[in-house]
Amino acid sequence: MAFEFSKTNLPKQLFINNEFVSSKNSKKLTLYNPKDGSLIADDVDLADEHDVDAAVKAAEKALPAWKKLTNIARRDILLKFASLIEEHGKSLAELTRITLGAPYGSFGAFETGMAAEAFKYNAGWIDKFAGESFPQEDGFLKIVRNEPLGVTAGIVPWNGPLGTVGLKAAPALATGNCFILKPSEKTPFASLALGPLIKEAGFPPGVFQVLSGDGSTGALIASHMRIRKVSFTGSIPTGKRIQEAAARSNLKRVTLELGGKSPAVVFDDANLENAVSWLANAITANTGQVCFAATRVYVQEGIYDKFVQGYKDALLAKGKTIGDPDKEGTVMGPLIDKAQFDRVSGFISRGKEQNQGTLLTGGSRVGDSGFFIEPTVFENVGADSELLTQEIFGPVAVLNSFKTEDEIIERSNATNFGLMAGVFTQDVNRALRVASAFDSGMVGVNCVSLMMLGTPFGGSKESGIGRECGRDALLAYTERKTVMVNMNY
Ligand code: NAD
Repeated sequence: MAFEFSKTNLPKQLFINNEFVSSKNSKKLTLYNPKDGSLIADDVDLADEHDVDAAVKAAEKALPAWKKLTNIARRDILLKFASLIEEHGKSLAELTRITLGAPYGSFGAFETGMAAEAFKYNAGWIDKFAGESFPQEDGFLKIVRNEPLGVTAGIVPWNGPLGTVGLKAAPALATGNCFILKPSEKTPFASLALGPLIKEAGFPPGVFQVLSGDGSTGALIASHMRIRKVSFTGSIPTGKRIQEAAARSNLKRVTLELGGKSPAVVFDDANLENAVSWLANAITANTGQVCFAATRVYVQEGIYDKFVQGYKDALLAKGKTIGDPDKEGTVMGPLIDKAQFDRVSGFISRGKEQNQGTLLTGGSRVGDSGFFIEPTVFENVGADSELLTQEIFGPVAVLNSFKTEDEIIERSNATNFGLMAGVFTQDVNRALRVASAFDSGMVGVNCVSLMMLGTPFGGSKESGIGRECGRDALLAYTERKTVMVNMNY
């Protein structure tokens, strides 16, 4: 099966047991291009109960042999798959771009690169993910094995449709699980297009499958009695529903990577240019549709005015790069769809009407077709306002000043989110003090809104449960089994 997909030949069928098959479900997914609202397809398969069961059955059949495969054979399959993603990176990015609107240079290349790197990284772990053994002087040798969970699944969002596949599928498959991928109903094409690459890499039938669908498909997965784990990335309300469904069904393991409203704190002694650059990138990358974007910016009084000027100029410059995501040189594309555009515009217009803060820059639609919006910042925003307390998921930030370190730690932590935080200062002691005082899963010092494949990625409080990346991801896809050997037998 050669890779042949493009925007004129879209993958629309489910990938089960290494074959494309049609769902019998009469309900289909409809997709639009966010740059102009044009129809992309209205006949993409939406997996129903029958399809989910078929995928689980195929995975269960594949599992015994996949678990027993040698380290080297499994590693080589993951490495081959990584190189196939790289080889077809441009086509995969285009299949995402036609419904997400993210330009290749500023997002597509990063995202496909991250997916490929995740498979390489996890392939490297396969023969190094050791268990443990404990002293046997009490007459018992204790061995702890990390064993695969069985049939696992990943439910991913639209804002990082392929990167999130790497973060979930690669550690699941590296540790000997079978994996069912459920992409977002807004970005199914790149995931479905993985089908031929899965086959060409050498994954046996049933090991790695793709079910396009919407929340109803996700709900079937979350409540399935024979799926042993769901790793989910998406919104907090859906994350809570998945946790509930997992508990009500078979207590499947759950990893949740959820939303954020991440603070960034800039002290008087910070390198201003560096802080401005990271913070302008943070809310414009992927048009602000990034879970760990630093959207609450706090700047100390001494440099506040200078920061405002630099931040505003940087965002105005970013605004000039808004345009057709298919054109080279475009940095900011549109928001993903009308629903997201209405949501973000709603926050902006209520912010203005209700005087939740003062509009510093942006605040308007760009053009009159497609879902383009200017980078937008509100200043002096009230602590209880929705602009300051809710995840907007667009290129919108709030900017406030502060006086003291103690005060700003309290204000930064006064939220139920806890994904990412940033501190900008040249005082190393203060940087480490503040980093440890933040309630968040990740902290940047003189940087923010970034992630590394080798270190734990995830949130505290309502931003999530569990961690992806690094060794944590492998542990999250395995069950620890203690074997006790009677040495006196
Ligand atoms: P979403 O919760 O609407 O959907 C995510 C996925 O869940 C989709 O595949 C969807 O079909 C599925 N789904 C919907 N209802 C379901 C149900 N009842 N049961 C099972 N699955 C269901 O989120 P979204 O709008 O696609 O993504 C945006 C959100 O994702 C934002 O809140 C963002 O912060 C978050 N996000 C978090 C991270 C992270 O790593 N922490 C990364 C990216 C995005």
